[in-house]
Amino acid sequence: MKTALVNVLVFNGRQLVPDSTVVIDDGLLGVDPNGARVIDAGGRVLLPGLIDAHVHIDGPDQLAALASHGVTTALDMASVAQITAPLRGLPGRTDIRSACVPAIAPGSLHSHFPGVGQAGLISGPEEAQRFVAARIAEGADYIKIVIGSPFADHDQATIDALVAAAHEQGKLAVAHASSTGSVAKAQAAGADILTHVPTDQVLDPTAAAQMAAAGRVAVPTLTMMQAIVTNLAPPGADYANASASVAALHAAGVPILAGTDANSSTVLPANVPYGAGLHSELELLAAAGLATADLLRAATVLPAIYFGLADRGIIEPGKRADLVLLDDDPLTDIRATRSIRRIWIGGVECEPADMRK
Ligand SMILES: [Zn+2]
Repeated sequence: MKTALVNVLVFNGRQLVPDSTVVIDDGLLGVDPNGARVIDAGGRVLLPGLIDAHVHIDGPDQLAALASHGVTTALDMASVAQITAPLRGLPGRTDIRSACVPAIAPGSLHSHFPGVGQAGLISGPEEAQRFVAARIAEGADYIKIVIGSPFADHDQATIDALVAAAHEQGKLAVAHASSTGSVAKAQAAGADILTHVPTDQVLDPTAAAQMAAAGRVAVPTLTMMQAIVTNLAPPGADYANASASVAALHAAGVPILAGTDANSSTVLPANVPYGAGLHSELELLAAAGLATADLLRAATVLPAIYFGLADRGIIEPGKRADLVLLDDDPLTDIRATRSIRRIWIGGVECEPADMRK
């Protein structure tokens, strides 16, 4: 069955293209509206399905929450493979990728996290190859390394070996780095993607320029950084440092991806909500200085590019029919991403949640 959305304003990754027609044909975006059921979108804004570049998945209800808030793809950054494997590739559900178990230093705060903590332990560089091979065997799409966890940390040689092993196996290395020192370790090792952002100091322009020059990407998770400072008040931590670090990265030209750290964990400082959290994250990134087009890119085309998801992130023929139709214009005010009218995931329509408060 074919559907043609007519009279839509299509976000093309930069701006809105007026009076467009978008064809949904068997799960993909097509070109020929002939024979299609026609939906007049009434001049509403059509975005590619939103991508949350940092979540933790441990149940099917979370996929439903993500979907109903327009998040059609979610990138899990630590979970138990036995739980996430059955949730992959379900028709009409949010499509997930996963790091499975991250690389965790023995004795660190993260080693006490239920499920992943003990399973992800690695105590030296000689274990890196085995660690990465085990992740790939359980279906990991990329390798996550927790750097700078309180109480104990990997030494630099272990981080270097993990990144090298990931790259040897053709996988991206994603580094958890929420302090300036952790960012330096991640950069020294050659990690591809850094998630979280420093709260201890503002990232200095030299470090930001180094990230940009190396082609590294940032997933700041400001929602979680704000929650950590508010709920735990670690000594020396200031949310203003996190927000200013995003500004420094953006000014240096580092691609910024929207990620929330949505989770249901009992040990994290906040249970960032699935789906709704992404809309809050966009507002925090706006407050950090990103323009509205950059915010939309941060939640669509950029994560698709940098995580190698070539079949999505932009509204073009041949891509997945992951679409979000909005009543209001998010290029004028980013809060308009909450005005969701309709959602399609792989061409299957989903019921939107009401976020208009
Ligand atoms: Zn996380």
